[in-house]
Amino acid sequence: MKNYQFWFCTGSQDLYGDECLRKVADHSAKIVEGLNASGHLPFEVILKPTLISQASIRKTFNDANNNPDCAGVITWMHTFSPAKMWILGLKEFKKPLCHLHTQFNEALPYGTIDMDFMNENQSAHGDREYGHIVSRMGIERKIIVGHWANEGIQKQLGSWMRTAIGIIESSHIRVCRFGDNMNNVAVTEGDKVEAQIKFGWEIDHYCVNDLVEYVDTVNDGDVNALVEEYYSKYKILNEGRNPEEFRRHVAVQARQEIGIEKFLKENDYHAVVTHFGMLGGLEQLPGLSIQRLMEKGYGFGAEGDWKVAAMVRLMKLMTAGIKDAKGTSMMEDYTNHLVPGEEGILQAHMLEVCPSVADGEIGIKVCPLSMGNREDPARLVFTSKEGPGIACSLVDLGTRFRLIINAVDCKKVKEPMPKLPVGTAFWTPRPSLQVGTTAWILAGGAHHTAFTYDLSVEQMVDWADAMGIESLVIDEKTDIRSFKNELKWNEAFYG
Ligand code: MN
Repeated sequence: MKNYQFWFCTGSQDLYGDECLRKVADHSAKIVEGLNASGHLPFEVILKPTLISQASIRKTFNDANNNPDCAGVITWMHTFSPAKMWILGLKEFKKPLCHLHTQFNEALPYGTIDMDFMNENQSAHGDREYGHIVSRMGIERKIIVGHWANEGIQKQLGSWMRTAIGIIESSHIRVCRFGDNMNNVAVTEGDKVEAQIKFGWEIDHYCVNDLVEYVDTVNDGDVNALVEEYYSKYKILNEGRNPEEFRRHVAVQARQEIGIEKFLKENDYHAVVTHFGMLGGLEQLPGLSIQRLMEKGYGFGAEGDWKVAAMVRLMKLMTAGIKDAKGTSMMEDYTNHLVPGEEGILQAHMLEVCPSVADGEIGIKVCPLSMGNREDPARLVFTSKEGPGIACSLVDLGTRFRLIINAVDCKKVKEPMPKLPVGTAFWTPRPSLQVGTTAWILAGGAHHTAFTYDLSVEQMVDWADAMGIESLVIDEKTDIRSFKNELKWNEAFYG
């Protein structure tokens, strides 16, 4: 992750003279200082000189485009800033835009307020003129309204910064596919050309035996050192297997972790796709190895699911560096629990759930796979944290992409599941299993999802808007009649 910055650009004009402009600059400097000192922003805000002319606006936006460290621009119209002078700059601007509708003074100073005060606290006026032209030009932007020193506003700005990182970084995501999509599966398929046009993703394919060369040539000493790390970090659940045979199976995954990562680094990939039916010379389906790589920040999709791999990578980037992050993973809706009052969906996969979501102890098991024809793979087993999260599914409808975002509540299962040899989560979709799942199925959502505890519905909707794709939210406000209408309306808009 780059050390990104966001530029703070204040709009004004010279109508009220130099003294007023000095105050504008002073107010902007204090706001930027306050924002940076707040502790709620994941990236630094850089103050730019007050913009009062078409030429300086155009130059600033083009400088922002060309500066690789700048991830977006925050605009604020301190005073009235005639918006025609913003048109050319906005037209040429290519990065995420935030419109912070704030004001230097929080309260009306009832006893002393005069016209000088009004002119120096005029964004109620100026931000409407500016907002008009941004709307007229059809430019996506985030609007945040409130006093800059308010903690809630600072957190909203921090949250938008992470969306902006998703927008900026999306076009750097490169997905490496070892094998194609699983035969006959519809929802994991998609138009890779359109994905590159819309999201900037590069989605390539390799023969899995290109990877096998990397895995087979990993140094034995490195494998042993990594196995030692596993044995010290995770609980060994050998369940009656011969300990040496168990360790040999684990070592296969350690060798894969090193080999796959070397391949991805050398070829500049940030997400990876496997397929249990296309393993070439690999001894085991990558399980523990892929789980560890996901934890390091790589995206992953199973059975050739490159859309999930890219989405997991995207969400790993958007959540990078969050203090007390609870985790991000590929998931699969696997098994329902339909007992009235306890409804939920057990989330798992054959092997590949990211341990970043784990709650408590993580164990290693070696067990047979019910699919494929390779030896028993080693995998990390755990249960996941409680709390709210979002499950996202990007589907290709043939004529367009749709992002479905479901707010879910993760819970503990009532009893241990000692015979289940995979990492799991258990959640109830909002607003309920019945309504949430009905809406999900109506929307054409997949069984694979990109899941995180650490992003909000709003952040993913804003990302989808920036990408110019449809998004559908399933949350506490969803009811089926309205949702069906939304699907029809969206068909008219996007179709
Ligand atoms: Mn699957």
